[in-house]
Amino acid sequence: MRLLWSRAVRRKMLYLWLLLIGFALVTLVLSDLLNNRHRVRGHQKPGPPRRPLQGIPNAPGLEVIVDSWDPALELGVDLAPLKSLQEDQLLFVPSAQGTNNPSQKKGSYRVLLPAANKDSRAAAPPTHGATGKAARPRPEAVEGDAQSSAVQKYGFNEVVSGRISLHRRLPDTRHPECLGEQYSESLPSASVVICFHDEAWSTLLRTVQSVLDTAPGQYLQEVLLVDDLSHHGHLKSVLSEYVSHLDGVRLIRSTKRLGVAGCRSLGAARAAGEVLVFMDSHCECQKGWLEPLLERVAQDRTRVVSPIMDVIDWQTFEYNATQWPVIGVFDWRLDFHWESNSRLQDKDSAARPLLSPALGGGVVAVDRHFFHSVGAYDPGMLLWGVEQIELSIRVWSCGGTMEVVPCSRVAHLDHHHPPYRFPDQDLLQRNKIRTADTWMDAYRKIFYRRDTLAHFIRQSESPDITERLRLKRNLGCRNFHWYLTTVYPQLYIPQDRPTLSGELYNVGTGSCADYPRGPGPQGGAMIAAPCSGTGSQHCDLNSEFEVRWGPSGALCLDASGKRAVLSPCPTHRPTASRLKWKFIKLSGQLVHQQSQLCLEAVMEGGLTPSSPRDVNTNAKTGGLFLRPCTHHPRQQWHFEQLVAPKGA
Ligand code: UDP
Ligand code: MN
Repeated sequence: MRLLWSRAVRRKMLYLWLLLIGFALVTLVLSDLLNNRHRVRGHQKPGPPRRPLQGIPNAPGLEVIVDSWDPALELGVDLAPLKSLQEDQLLFVPSAQGTNNPSQKKGSYRVLLPAANKDSRAAAPPTHGATGKAARPRPEAVEGDAQSSAVQKYGFNEVVSGRISLHRRLPDTRHPECLGEQYSESLPSASVVICFHDEAWSTLLRTVQSVLDTAPGQYLQEVLLVDDLSHHGHLKSVLSEYVSHLDGVRLIRSTKRLGVAGCRSLGAARAAGEVLVFMDSHCECQKGWLEPLLERVAQDRTRVVSPIMDVIDWQTFEYNATQWPVIGVFDWRLDFHWESNSRLQDKDSAARPLLSPALGGGVVAVDRHFFHSVGAYDPGMLLWGVEQIELSIRVWSCGGTMEVVPCSRVAHLDHHHPPYRFPDQDLLQRNKIRTADTWMDAYRKIFYRRDTLAHFIRQSESPDITERLRLKRNLGCRNFHWYLTTVYPQLYIPQDRPTLSGELYNVGTGSCADYPRGPGPQGGAMIAAPCSGTGSQHCDLNSEFEVRWGPSGALCLDASGKRAVLSPCPTHRPTASRLKWKFIKLSGQLVHQQSQLCLEAVMEGGLTPSSPRDVNTNAKTGGLFLRPCTHHPRQQWHFEQLVAPKGA
């Protein structure tokens, strides 16, 4: 009896133990699942350690992350700027719950799509959110108004964009040589960091979907959306909800407007991938774009790379392939542009990357450790602009390289006008000032002469760049002379001699020589226009007798028949006499060497005298012609130097 009883007890004990062990196993599996919630597709290395997530009241589906990861500890470098970012920020990420069941995911994904739209994958925002308007049919009469107000709001035609599928495929414009390229099988993982501020729903989500549709799962660590304090309703809880159903997409919200540079640095501090791919929030990736970038970074971790940036038309959303070869450059006003030029590379190397003096901000891929060790983005940069030029000069000067990888192509939406109404027009200039003062040494004078607004701001205040200068010293970065001669020898270095450079002012008409078609390399007819006083009309008569025009000095004053035009400056010496001019200081005549004719300003209907700054008003303009020399005031010129910065 006792024996039977003790056997029964033992059996019960055994069941109890088994139950306990089972419970422990279930707990273990569950906690492992929870710990892996930030990992994407189960195969990546774990990200940086994080403190546990805490729920916040009144924000269903949102959790606060207080991130304890300290990149400085991991990298052993001074990341003071990043640290301060982390302390200030309260970050939100959508709950990952519910993302493990694909069928459930798909179901709720559909619920969010507009009922009125036949294409269930089209790009209108969810109807139940703050912005359901795109889903409702519009009467034809208001169509035009809707389109122009969309352009007003976003700087592109969002109505057209809203009708295009989030999954549209771009035509494959890669060179045939690219299609046969083989890439290593063990490429590093990538975090695609997409910062946005008040981006349209369609363009933002098309960017995200296009990354998910084109980046191979085994290389994509995550898509990290960073909301830089957007105000638009559709980017609030509707977006959080939408994103929470996308596998591998995280959303972080900043509680402070950081601007492009700060926002990207924040994303970088949170990213877990080995390679960071910074991407604008209005891009579309072409098939196979990621692998070539990762391969180049994997081969050399100090390489910073960009795809060829194709262009999406702001009006029609048509895709336009950019011509290869192309490199990124900037001018002496510190404005960036891509330069497509067949002279840059032989035709037979269509798949070979090309070193580039700078890269645009649209898409940039960089090793995460290298990015942090080279100083991330300058935390002193405000809002928008120049951050990519600053990064470019720094990367090159401090031990890295930059290149455009032709087998990778991503299309970027070029805005009709900047999407941000700057509260303060000077912000861009302040970013330029930081860049010039930190990196350009004595060459910064050339910049200040071409951007007088920057000059005047600089006269009354100094940027606080102590930390950046320390970084420059600690990293042993090279000087700007090295950069100009070694990395960017294509950039003409102006001589800016006193009395032979500045605005070319015409005494007879009170106007200045101008070139209205921007910095394009092609050239065209010159005009006489109101003097801008901004430095945009600066030119430089150099010791080769060339009149070098514009912020890059790549266009030269030339003659086409009797008309004064600009044409690309010669790359070889000696300069042809067609491009040579002599300035006679006494008479103010500017004499064309080949024809011995004088430059004359001819007004069409007479110039309205205007204040120096209103170059865009209706003030009349005129043409510049070559005429037999006389002493008429319309043939009298002087070079007005607007700026002679003291010690700058
Ligand atoms: N952006 C941001 N915060 C800002 C300004 C811009 O996060 O204060 C984002 C913007 O949404 C875009 C990227 O930064 O994804 C670059 O800005 P933008 O496209 O306007 O620059 P552009 O392409 O015109 O140089
Ligand atoms: Mn952009």
